[in-house]
Amino acid sequence: MPSKKLDPLFPPGAKKTDASFAFPFRAGYPGTPRTAFSLKQLSCPHCDQSQSLNRHSVLYGNDPFDCAKERVRGQRVFCSNRGQRGGCGRTFSVFLAEVLPRHTLTASLVWQCLLKLLAGLSLKAAAEKLRLPFALETVYRLRRSLRHGLDLLRTRLCREQTPPGSAHPDPLLQTVEHLQVVFPRSGCPPADFQLRFQRPFLG
Ligand SMILES: [Zn+2]
Repeated sequence: MPSKKLDPLFPPGAKKTDASFAFPFRAGYPGTPRTAFSLKQLSCPHCDQSQSLNRHSVLYGNDPFDCAKERVRGQRVFCSNRGQRGGCGRTFSVFLAEVLPRHTLTASLVWQCLLKLLAGLSLKAAAEKLRLPFALETVYRLRRSLRHGLDLLRTRLCREQTPPGSAHPDPLLQTVEHLQVVFPRSGCPPADFQLRFQRPFLG
């Protein structure tokens, strides 16, 4: 049985070491067909081989709203060193764009929360409005974690487009507006950020 005590910052099975790793992200949402995890155009982040890759196990995680349910989060990939495959024998993960690696919270939940902050709600009010199934302290930690990684986010966004003029003094809210400008037609800019830059939105 999955644990009832969810920690969105470090869900069960999460490896902290994965955080510093280049995450290949794929389009698609939970419940997505296997083809989302096509290994085409993918190379091993350890040895750069592309002909050696095999699908390994599917990655599951808790549904943030129902800890009795599991959702597909991604695919573990094996870089085969058997026979003539020439790989390195190591594994790595491919994630759905909607997944925030190491976090139970999804990209769209984080985005909805950020939009509420942009609209002027307090974090507490935003969390209540969205009925986030986490303790408030966890949501505060999430925001601290976002602020901590803000420089990297902004550096990447600035490569795409200069930030829009903002009336907000808060750099986090300025970044939310910047995300809207860089991904104007997106329903979930954090997911599109991960697809575009192949880097986690939340460290
Ligand atoms: Zn390899």
